[in-house]
Amino acid sequence: MEKYLLYINGEFRESGDKQTFSAVNPATEEVIAEVSKATVEDARDAADAARNAFDSGVWSDLPREERSRILKQVVDKINENAKRLTELEVMDSGSTIKKAGEDVFLSAKSLNYYSKMAAADLNEDVEGLSKAGVSKNIIRREPIGVCALITPWNFPLKMAIWKLGPALAAGNTVILKPAMETSVTACELARLINETDMPKGVVNIITGAGSVIGTELVKNLKVDKVGFTGSTEVGKIIMKNAADNLKKLTLECGGKSANIVLDDADIDMSVDGAIYAGFYHQGQCCEGGTRLLVSEKIYDEFVDKLKNKIRKMTIGDPMDKKTDVGPVINKKQFDSVMNYIKIGKEEGAEILTGGNKAGDKGYYIEPTVFINAGNNMRISQEEIFGPVVTLIKFKDDDDAVKIANDSIYGLGGAVWSGNDERALKVANRLRTGTVWINEYHLLSDRAPFGGYKQSGIGREFGLDGLKEYTEAKHIHIDEIKDRTKKFWYGTVVPKD
Ligand code: NAD
Repeated sequence: MEKYLLYINGEFRESGDKQTFSAVNPATEEVIAEVSKATVEDARDAADAARNAFDSGVWSDLPREERSRILKQVVDKINENAKRLTELEVMDSGSTIKKAGEDVFLSAKSLNYYSKMAAADLNEDVEGLSKAGVSKNIIRREPIGVCALITPWNFPLKMAIWKLGPALAAGNTVILKPAMETSVTACELARLINETDMPKGVVNIITGAGSVIGTELVKNLKVDKVGFTGSTEVGKIIMKNAADNLKKLTLECGGKSANIVLDDADIDMSVDGAIYAGFYHQGQCCEGGTRLLVSEKIYDEFVDKLKNKIRKMTIGDPMDKKTDVGPVINKKQFDSVMNYIKIGKEEGAEILTGGNKAGDKGYYIEPTVFINAGNNMRISQEEIFGPVVTLIKFKDDDDAVKIANDSIYGLGGAVWSGNDERALKVANRLRTGTVWINEYHLLSDRAPFGGYKQSGIGREFGLDGLKEYTEAKHIHIDEIKDRTKKFWYGTVVPKD
């Protein structure tokens, strides 16, 4: 049985009290590895290591091209080990192999983007900030310092890379803490990083309970920034706990996104899109299209086709390339999702498809669609994070926008229509961070991703994502060499 250790200051070690936890395959309920369970002391050691590495300048003072070269080494390591990482991700997270393969590919691609960004000069010389060009002005983008990166279990490697990439490209040092449910690929990443020229202490990876080591990292005064992806509930706790030294925060939290099908949409394509939006990774996607809003003009045909297509989905072994639906992450999540299905029935919504456990072993749930549902129901307002979609009928575009925006969340969403101009008008009115038109889930390395409202604070990806890991410094160099000059203060006073 594989045993994974903590990675602190360039060394692998057991946790202070030698405790471990088991990594469990959600498809078989079997233990696949033992993982070290870090103590508060271990988290402090990791923060100390990252602090010392940052303050020594071993990373932030490197020439940009050198940081870029080392990040590219990590990209190459991920690509060389793609098959192993994909299979481990399937076993550890219940991702289908189709999704896990894509995740590993996209992880390497994102890190490659940030390895290039690491070489880019983001500093700017700004002209004309002062009167008559008598000063030179530079805006420097500097690293923030030590960043704690806390990630969830639904896209384990990808989420780790989305944070490591910009944080390291900007010159920060980091402590990565993956979710306990899925720590294996982060531990594998530690081994790969250790084989590169990454200086000791720049990347530290520790595994264990969020309530213990996550809390310590968030409160630790040596940590300057927290980059977090997870539930809105934990995001709020982090915001409170990070207050003592006013840590910078990026919070990527929950969602309940509206997937809107207008009356002029291609019905077959939007049915496929609705399945992809709602059931990709068993619905365990923050930006998933969990509220499916369908125009009353096409409702009957749409519902009929949706039902038939969902019934053809293959539920089964996630390692099998033909599988569409794998298990949810664990027993706790399984129980929570099944409870929401019960709540939906009690609220008076009707099951169109699914609603049951699937198979004897593993945490499988049938893809479930509720119809005759209202947007005020709990199944429409609360994040279920499982294969459950609530289908709501709307009258016209105004009605669709009103329902879509009636949510505490604002992360993703889509509009399906045969008319781009009309779809764009609807998209512009949605209070959400990403809107797809006739597409879903597709994110770009170069476009910002993040939440309005209680879906989060800040953005990942692209230049916006990189800037989240920098401080902006303005340097004003006065160029008047005449010592008799007047200072600006007091030169503008109201006339008597
Ligand atoms: P979670 O909030 O339970 O945990 C996320 C991470 O935070 C884990 O590493 C966990 O150990 C850690 N954590 C828990 N308590 C903590 C604390 N008190 N202090 C510091 N860290 C703590 O989320 P999850 O169940 O792992 O993931 C599912 C959630 O993540 C969903 O709500 C989903 O919408 C959200 N999510 C959001 C995005 C996004 O980009 N917006 C992406 C993926 C998932």
